[in-house]
Parts: sequence; structure tokens; C-alpha cells
Amino acid sequence: MTSPDTRPDPKELLATLVGFETVSSASNLPLVGFVEAFCRRHGAAVERIVDETGQKAALWITVGPSDRPGYVLSGHSDVVPVEGQDWTHDPFRLTEVDGRLYGRGTSDMKGFLAVCLALLPEMAAAPLARPLHLAVSYDEEVGCLGVRPLIAHLRERGVAPLGCFVGEPTGMAVVIGHKGKYGAKVTFRGRACHSALAPTGVNAVEYAARFIERVRLTAEGLARDGARDDLYDVPHTTGLTALVQGGTALNIVPDRCTVGFEFRAIAADDPRGLADAVLAYARDALVPEMQARDPGCGITVEPVIDYPGLDVSPDAPLVTLAKRLAGRNGHAKVSYGTEAGLFQTLGDIPSVVIGPGDIARAHKADEYVETAELAECAAFVRRLIAESCA
Ligand SMILES: [Zn+2]
Repeated sequence: MTSPDTRPDPKELLATLVGFETVSSASNLPLVGFVEAFCRRHGAAVERIVDETGQKAALWITVGPSDRPGYVLSGHSDVVPVEGQDWTHDPFRLTEVDGRLYGRGTSDMKGFLAVCLALLPEMAAAPLARPLHLAVSYDEEVGCLGVRPLIAHLRERGVAPLGCFVGEPTGMAVVIGHKGKYGAKVTFRGRACHSALAPTGVNAVEYAARFIERVRLTAEGLARDGARDDLYDVPHTTGLTALVQGGTALNIVPDRCTVGFEFRAIAADDPRGLADAVLAYARDALVPEMQARDPGCGITVEPVIDYPGLDVSPDAPLVTLAKRLAGRNGHAKVSYGTEAGLFQTLGDIPSVVIGPGDIARAHKADEYVETAELAECAAFVRRLIAESCA
């Protein structure tokens, strides 16, 4: 039992959080129940935003005065699966070896959540002039889905925080940008026939191949002549086809081929617009040709992923604050997506990404966070508490 006057240990909290197997396909309610009870026990106000299945929920937690804007510490509760990965330790049981805490989600991003929860009693005890909020989402790993109803909830209630720190693992570097992404699956429906009679069929794989080439040429053009942002490792917008499925036998003209493609865009480009342009090519050039041979042919498009990029000015007050709290001078941009772009775009909440751990360890076997990294994050949160008292 943790009572309000004992100091919760981030390591113990992390062990508890890791023990909840919150892969995105599973319910996160056991974790949510634990966090909610913990926060209430320490005097925080908790709002639970349940999804339409009733199996998942986001949390909006407030410490301090709720009638004025404050800062948000935000993390997702879900983790990626461990299937097919060769783990040295049980991924859902925290294991400490030489200052490293191994377990699924330790870097991405239960370590951050554990630190925030561990400091909740200090937040509650501090003479806060402005509130501190914890935002806990779900289904981040499958397309930043669960934070959207949470942001909508805040908008409905007219909550307009001063800024949001999204605790994805940046090694506590201040991250002011990430690329936006749009991805979709396109299914080409052709007409099957014996391959000996190939000209009488409509070859779905060959039409898909022309589409794939269009994606490739677009990506090549962006790499060659596109806008640049040198804060990114890959300083331009990228695009590619990563999934192709079609055909059943060499002697059958395939009547079906499904292609999965994506664009990841820097702020100067719109990933959805780029996808729309290649899809327009399919609709305007490929489909009429297919339908001239068989009106039943065509394409079906299913959006798979769609989230906005993050692009904050290095001079934004939140960036200056984050640097001061983290004791850092520099800033960076990262190629992976986070919920920060959604807070900024959908919620109109200034956002930066900063958290303990390393994205290079995330989504892999033997994911870990170092105790020293958790301590550095705790120092950051403590300075934010002090800042919120001023
Ligand atoms: Zn993450």
C-alpha cells in the first residue's frame, strides 16, 4: 500500500506498469484502473474517457487549481507486441541489470509515466499556482488513435493548457518537430483468366506495379528537388510502397492486388496531399484503362494511418521553457511520429517531445531504460512543479 505520505518509487511503479500487458490489441483497463486509483489516493482529480468498445480508456488527471491553464505531461499506455522477438528476460516483468531496467515499454513509454506518477504526491503537496495534468492515452502504436477523443474531450470542456510535454524517449533532448504521415492500402480489382489467354484478362498486379512506380517517382522527385529541413536525419519528405499482395498461380492472370504505401512529410509538405496525388493518378489514368476492358474493374482505397507532423518554432516559449527545465541548449527533430503533432494541430496546445530512454531501444527485444535516465526525467518534472508554483 502506498499512503499519501510515503514517496512512491519510480522503479516500483514502472514494474507495476510493465506488468500490465497493454499491447495495443488488448484492453488497457487494468492499467487505467491502477493509475486512476493511485492518482485519486494522492488527491488528484481524474477523468476517464472510455472508447466505444468499453475496453479502452484515456485518463485526464489534474493536480492543483482546475480553473486556469497549466502544463500537461502526456504518455501512451499501450506497447508493441513481443511476438517473434528473442527476449533475454520476461518482457512483462521488470528486470534490473547494472542500472538498466528491462521490460516491454520501459523506454516507450512507461518509464516516463512511472516518473510522472512517482512525483504526483510532490505535485499534490506543492503550492501550485497553475495545475499540472497527466494525460494517458491508448492505441498510440496503431496510429495515434486514443489521444484524439482525449483532445476532443478537452476542447468540449474548454480546457486550453499552456503547453504539453509528450514523454516519448528522446534521451531528454528537446524535440520540436516530427514528420507527419499518411498511409493507405489500395486494392486493384482486375479480371482473372488463364495466363495463356492473358490479353483477355485485366492484370491487377501489373496495374498495381504502375501505381507503385508512381509512388516511387514521387518519392524520388521529393528527394531530388523537394523542400529541405536539415534538422531531420532524412531532411526531406519520403514515400514508399512497403506491402504488396497479389496473384495466386503463375498460370492465372491475377484479378486482385493490394498495395500498402505511405508518405512521411516535413512541415513544408502535406502527406495526405501527396497520397491524394498518386491516388488521383490511379483513378484518372489506370482505372479508366482497366474499365475499358471490363467495367467491373477498379480500385478500393482504405486509409491506414493519418497523423499530422509537429513543427514548433525554436523560439516558442514552450521550447525555451523545456530547455530551461531540461538544462539543455539545443533542440532536435525526429523521424518517428508522436502524439505531439495531434495536441498541437487538433488541440491547439503548444507541444514538444521530451522523455527518458532511447527510441532506438523501443519496439525491440530487451527494451530498457536506465535508472539514471529516469532520475534525469524526475529532475525535469520537479523543475516543472517548481515552475508551476511561481
Ligand atoms: Zn511511444
